[in-house]
Amino acid sequence: ISVMEATKACIENIKTYDKEYNCFITVDEEGAFKQAEEIQKKIDSGELTGPLAGVPIAIKDNMCQNGVLTTCASKILSNFVPTYTSDAVVKLMEAGAVIVGKTNMDEFAMGSTTETSYYGETKNPWDTNKVPGGSSGGSAAAVAAEEVPCALGSDTGGSIRQPAAFCGVTGIKPTYGRVSRYGLVAYGSSLDQIGPLAKNVTDCATILEIISRYDKKDSTSVERTDNDFTSALKDDVKGMRIGLPKDYFTEGLDPEIKDAVYHVAEVLKEKGAIVEEFDLGMVEYAIPAYYIIASAEASSNLERFDGVKYGYRTAEYTDLHNMYKKTRSEGFGAEVKRRIMLGSFTLSSGYYDAYYVKALKVKALIKQAYDKAFAKYDIILGPVAPTTALTMGESLSDPIKMYLGDVYTVPVNLAGLPGISLPCGYDKDGMPIGVQMVGDAFNEKAIIQAAYAFE
Ligand code: GLN
Repeated sequence: ISVMEATKACIENIKTYDKEYNCFITVDEEGAFKQAEEIQKKIDSGELTGPLAGVPIAIKDNMCQNGVLTTCASKILSNFVPTYTSDAVVKLMEAGAVIVGKTNMDEFAMGSTTETSYYGETKNPWDTNKVPGGSSGGSAAAVAAEEVPCALGSDTGGSIRQPAAFCGVTGIKPTYGRVSRYGLVAYGSSLDQIGPLAKNVTDCATILEIISRYDKKDSTSVERTDNDFTSALKDDVKGMRIGLPKDYFTEGLDPEIKDAVYHVAEVLKEKGAIVEEFDLGMVEYAIPAYYIIASAEASSNLERFDGVKYGYRTAEYTDLHNMYKKTRSEGFGAEVKRRIMLGSFTLSSGYYDAYYVKALKVKALIKQAYDKAFAKYDIILGPVAPTTALTMGESLSDPIKMYLGDVYTVPVNLAGLPGISLPCGYDKDGMPIGVQMVGDAFNEKAIIQAAYAFE
């Protein structure tokens, strides 16, 4: 099958299914066909080989693509067409992937349900009354609905892993610094990472291998030589040491999810892994610390959206300050405003030490707790989220409830570690359950190996 045929089939699928699921904000049909033609020529001339040559892929709409609308699912960027492309997307293009469009998300990646998008919510293809998770809900649902074989998402506190779990697909949040953040619209800069979502571990490892290269345009990008992730795709976990954090399996966790995760531990044990329970610690402090740090960084990062240089500008105003105020009042949604207010508060003088500095100390202690665990274990196995996909609307009225759902994913970002989420069963309503495997810094190979052996 030719690249053009594959691209056309993919775009047809999007057109058919996306009316119902709303996974995409932009479908770049013209651009995709143009890329397909060029890639075909390069394949025919032998210039381009490799696993992604001619593969259609979708990109979360917080990654810039030159000439393509990039909205972050916000009204304030509803007219923003960047003049450059994010580094991860450049690397995909160089590998011959065809970028077919930009996927829906929670506004500025703040949320866990993809309901806060200015472009309407994405629906979970398994049950359209349920959310797909978030914030990379469009990417996860697009893969689940087979609109695309794979997609990129971003993960600040779980936004790749949790939607992957809710939609029954696989996703990897790499170690902080592994993938360049250049061209990713910043939310919590010290936590944000780009990563793949796909049908299986092999596809995720293949994409990750391509996008994780050192990039001097991102000062936090780390130069590494150990990104041959596909070499970890072997069905062998003999002697692998796996830790099950006891403090993850407490009351708040749905018993069906607990059973499913323990089943994963059993399977890996049968294959020769050494599984042990242990106390990770610090679990109850992760959510408050995360929401203080992420909101603080967000309040600073979002200062640039003021109606002056780009993006939406209010229609009528009296002076410059009135223009800022009206633009931002009209341009941002409720959840984004909530975070800006929280972040501005915790960074203000008098409160900075009490909240922000304290949260940074908690962050350091969480990292220490993981360091201690990784002295004993190769991977940590646990749930991705306390529940399966929520019903639409459930958490919109109760943001705290939504924040609490991030308990198993946010500590991993605070510690900068790699995590994979993959399907491990279904609940009584037939909704997918995900399992999370966390590795030590830059040890993506361990989680890929264990995930592949279980899958
Ligand atoms: N749900 C978390 C938040 O709202 C995580 C989002 C993310 O990873 N982008 O901040």
